[in-house]
Amino acid sequence: MAIVIIRQDEKIGVWKDELLRQAPELEIYSYLEAHPKDKITMALVWKHPPGSIMGYPNLKYIASSGAGVDFILADPSVPKGIPITRIIDPMLAKDMSAFVVSLIHNHLKNLSSYKNDQHAKQWLPKPYLRKPNVNVGVMGLGQLGTHLVKTLCDLGFQVNGWAASKKEISGVQTYVGQKERNEFLATTNVLVCLLPLTPQTIGVLNSSLFKVLPKGAFVINVARGGHLVDKDLISALDTNHLSGAALDVFHKEPLPENHPFWEHPNVHITPHVASVSDPASVVPQIIENFERCTQGKTLNNSVSVKKGY
Ligand code: NDP
Repeated sequence: MAIVIIRQDEKIGVWKDELLRQAPELEIYSYLEAHPKDKITMALVWKHPPGSIMGYPNLKYIASSGAGVDFILADPSVPKGIPITRIIDPMLAKDMSAFVVSLIHNHLKNLSSYKNDQHAKQWLPKPYLRKPNVNVGVMGLGQLGTHLVKTLCDLGFQVNGWAASKKEISGVQTYVGQKERNEFLATTNVLVCLLPLTPQTIGVLNSSLFKVLPKGAFVINVARGGHLVDKDLISALDTNHLSGAALDVFHKEPLPENHPFWEHPNVHITPHVASVSDPASVVPQIIENFERCTQGKTLNNSVSVKKGY
């Protein structure tokens, strides 16, 4: 029974150290070192190189070290029928809410626009928006979206939420599925995407959706780059239908140097940092699942491969 960590960034050592700090008895390998493939029962992965979760004859489950699993499901070489788990972590939800709330305040007070003015040495006071005049609409009311809408309500925002199934959240006007999508959008001035990336949600942030938003709406995408049709956003910004966008995630990361988003005055770019799994916070659930797997128990935080999240 051993764990292999598969990821392309420089954090394999950080995860291995934290796992060993909390459970020194574990046998853990980086996929980059020589390791006994037949001993591996769990693969702990994040944006693995496609084709790297193969050749483990006794693999019992694949654990995403983040909230999303889209990158696992998108790799056709991942063995079928093996359970996949993800991270559900209060710190991840708090971090996401704090990030999105900062972006919304930044938008209301025109802070990015003043940064642009500063570069141009221009003194241009602008009217600003106040909370009672702004409806924030959150697409996706799962672990992160639900925490966000509750946080926004507590801060005094008017909040709409949209999901695949009906939700009852105090203070939040909720909408369900395609039939209520336009009603949700029509009263949303700041749209936040917190959907999982699935075949149903790829390209969901497109011209037809933007058209339904009120003129001057602002779009925040902190979910996945694949949700957004980039050229449709640029067109909605350039025709002044949308007032701006804050993007944390992109089709290709890092965002290519020649991408028009870099230069667009109304696009606020951050490098996929809205909410990052903290190993110390999430390792206990990884260890618990490893133990549950060893004992033949049902795993926590399993995803539905059929639904894609
Ligand atoms: P969850 O799986 O908990 O929630 C997903 C929500 O989306 C659910 O409410 C679900 O509805 C809804 N949904 C799914 N498909 C549809 C659809 N076709 N139409 C309408 N609603 C739909 O996910 P999390 O909240 O944990 O995370 C959301 C995403 O955030 C992750 O998948 C990840 O991609 C992204 N993320 C980004 C980070 C960053 O740093 N930028 C960090 C962490 C996560 P229902 O409840 O009815 O099933």
